[in-house]
Amino acid sequence: MNDQVGVGVFATAFIPAGTVVYVQDPLDIVILPDSPLLQNPVLRPTIDKYAILEPGERRVIGWDAAKYVNHCCQANIISTGYGFEIALRDIQPGEEVRDEYGVFNLGWTMEWNCPHVDSCRGLLRPDDFDHYCAQWDAQIQAALRQVMDVPQPLWSLLDVETREAVRRYADTGEGYVSVAVLKMGASTAVAPH
Ligand SMILES: [Zn+2]
Repeated sequence: MNDQVGVGVFATAFIPAGTVVYVQDPLDIVILPDSPLLQNPVLRPTIDKYAILEPGERRVIGWDAAKYVNHCCQANIISTGYGFEIALRDIQPGEEVRDEYGVFNLGWTMEWNCPHVDSCRGLLRPDDFDHYCAQWDAQIQAALRQVMDVPQPLWSLLDVETREAVRRYADTGEGYVSVAVLKMGASTAVAPH
């Protein structure tokens, strides 16, 4: 915790690239677009701060430490089209775990300066998806190719279809599901091909 970014999440152990680091689970809070919570002026700022927005205007707030993960333009974890987040590179003990907020459909522009990052975008924009999706997919694909080679403590939380889809991609390079399925307005029924 510090004055600049508030709270953050730090690795307590070595996390190899390709590790599934977050899976939505039934304890996470899901707020649908017709929820009265969104009209509550006391709760709304907290919802906007911590929720990620998914297609269907589904807001999800992780019940665990996931909601405290900060953004970085050189993120070491990222969401995927498979409903989980993955480590993009090896994360050392003590290193801050940082996510790519560009996939969260924030809906507004947010200033963000990443310390020590040459390629910091300076701003998170609602249209980041349009500019960076191909880059994110390339990073995710590289991480997915390592999924079967590293310990996966969260593997049991993935449903059978997801496990099979991931294993198939790792083994054959086929059937990749783009992170673009998370973009607002994207069809939620995109089938692997
Ligand atoms: Zn940045």
